[in-house]
Amino acid sequence: MSEQTPIKLVLLSCCTPCSAGAIKQLAEGAIPGVQDFIVLFFNPNIFPETEYKKRMDEQIKYCEQLGVKYFIGKYNHDEWRAAVRGLENEPERGRRCSACFKYRFDFAKKFAMENGYNAIASVFGVSRHKNQIQVDIAALCSLGKDIYMPIKWDENLRQKINHESDFYRQNYCGCEFSIRKI
Ligand code: SF4
Repeated sequence: MSEQTPIKLVLLSCCTPCSAGAIKQLAEGAIPGVQDFIVLFFNPNIFPETEYKKRMDEQIKYCEQLGVKYFIGKYNHDEWRAAVRGLENEPERGRRCSACFKYRFDFAKKFAMENGYNAIASVFGVSRHKNQIQVDIAALCSLGKDIYMPIKWDENLRQKINHESDFYRQNYCGCEFSIRKI
């Protein structure tokens, strides 16, 4: 992509607490060069489906509040399980997470190509349980450097919005292997 090409961005979001600041920044035009964007909620990794629906509903609510475009990808947890087969016992931040990120970036790439978008970013590295470098590597493997935008989101803004909101908030990343034993 040349420097003059207007950026039409797909923002991959995992949940509202992680994405609220990024969506607000994009909605306010705070990311230079981004002319248009859409929030992509594609998270078939989330288990169980009741939990998926809670996170999806919160995401839709927030996008509609801000008047931004969004797309909900299909929920097919069996297909996601096939993508991480053999990695079930990996720890969080291990190889299962790399495969999970790649699976979702692969879908985002297909979505972008089919819908006229030319750049992809995510909030997958926002949580303190995640590793931004691991996310970036998975994104570059899936998307390449011409499409991937490794945007550093405003963490203070994200925390402020979360503090002022009552978003539904989960206590585990998403898949059944990340559910914390209390
Ligand atoms: S812990 Fe999170 S990122 Fe890792 S595989 Fe599970 S849902 Fe995906």
